[in-house]
Amino acid sequence: MPDFDIIVIGAGPAGSAAATWAAKHGAKVALVDKAMFPRNKLCGGLFTERSRSYYCEIFGRDFDLSRAVTRHDISFWHDGAELATLTDIPPLHLTMRLDLDNTLFEHALTAGASDFSGRHIAQISENEILFKDGTALHAPILIGADGVNSIVAKHLFGASFNTETIGFGLEIEVPESTQNPVEKPLRIDFGAATWGYGWSFPKQNSTTVGVGGLRAPNPDMKAHMRHYLKTLGLDPEAVKFKGHHLPFGDFRPTPGRDNILLAGDAAGLVDPITGEGIAFAMKSGQIAAQSALDALGAGSPKTALRRYQRTLRDMQRNLRIARTLRRIIFAPRWQGAFTRTFRRSGTVRVMYMRLLAGELEYPQLARSVVARLPRYLLNALRR
Ligand SMILES: Cc1cc2nc3c(=O)[nH]c(=O)nc-3n(C[C@H](O)[C@H](O)[C@H](O)COP(=O)(O)OP(=O)(O)OC[C@H]3O[C@@H](n4cnc5c(N)ncnc54)[C@H](O)[C@@H]3O)c2cc1C
Repeated sequence: MPDFDIIVIGAGPAGSAAATWAAKHGAKVALVDKAMFPRNKLCGGLFTERSRSYYCEIFGRDFDLSRAVTRHDISFWHDGAELATLTDIPPLHLTMRLDLDNTLFEHALTAGASDFSGRHIAQISENEILFKDGTALHAPILIGADGVNSIVAKHLFGASFNTETIGFGLEIEVPESTQNPVEKPLRIDFGAATWGYGWSFPKQNSTTVGVGGLRAPNPDMKAHMRHYLKTLGLDPEAVKFKGHHLPFGDFRPTPGRDNILLAGDAAGLVDPITGEGIAFAMKSGQIAAQSALDALGAGSPKTALRRYQRTLRDMQRNLRIARTLRRIIFAPRWQGAFTRTFRRSGTVRVMYMRLLAGELEYPQLARSVVARLPRYLLNALRR
């Protein structure tokens, strides 16, 4: 007899969303994480209105904005020169992941998931996970929400991610005494990394500063980070930065196998232009959980992947379009043209902003971009 209906591995945004949704709908859920909560996760902590609306839908309450810094302004830079500052933009919420993830994890336990945090997995098989202490859990469906270094993805596909296409980010937390977040606007620096960007995000007691982009064209991301810190007037030698992989558009077309599903970073569901991952993690966790519930309801756990793929299709399609559009923004040979257009065109700035804020979906953007692009660029995109 299985101990649980669903085992969720990883209790970040994807796993906590999956566990909450499944437990709320009557499933017996085990939520497993190698960390004890609260635990930190390297992240800019930008929580968009898209994240907020998914949060409301999945956790059944509005996000507590008193725990975040909400800004309505942002400045864009390139190579030390300001391109534009926008005010009165849609709200951008800046959170601390230590706090956010702990809240999500608590919601999952309140919904009825069983707590297996601080437990280390030795082995995964079709319906079982074996902990290093020799105990085991059984369930007809497993959901791998264990982040970019997913051991569930490794179990299924031999590797957690593709080293050629993966992204990578470096970050530091600058204490408030060094940089006053009230005075500093939210800031994005195009070109701070190749095929990527830099960011400076004000928080309640600090500022999160980072650079990130595709890993392959940035063999020395630390040099980009040092340069970026100097641009911001910070001493790169005085701080130790941390790094983390980011599946920056590196999503898996087949996110699982039969009764084992992958959600969030484990499935590579991160926006290839903005780097947003929290919203897609929560949403894919919810969809994975619903697919698992439907498969269990039909008495056919192995149909879970087929059901999941069907409902995940729209999200994957959006990310595929974004991966194509990314070339216009980040490809070094077009970067000059992009930044010139960005500086001149209010329409482009507003579109980028709405994208960042989670207001605009890629199919809409693609239609508008395609209508404006010269033919030679269109042909290059198709290649
Ligand atoms: C530098 C950087 C900046 C970013 N900034 C932003 C941002 O500002 N806004 C945004 O929306 N997104 C941002 N992202 C992306 C975002 O952090 C991720 O997309 C998001 O955290 C994915 O959530 P997840 O639940 O899939 O994975 P995670 O948040 O990584 O959670 C995975 C969980 O699985 C657990 N786990 C891992 N391995 C195991 C194991 N073997 N056994 C059991 N448990 C395990 C971990 O402890 C963790 O709790 C950023 C990413 C990086 C790297």
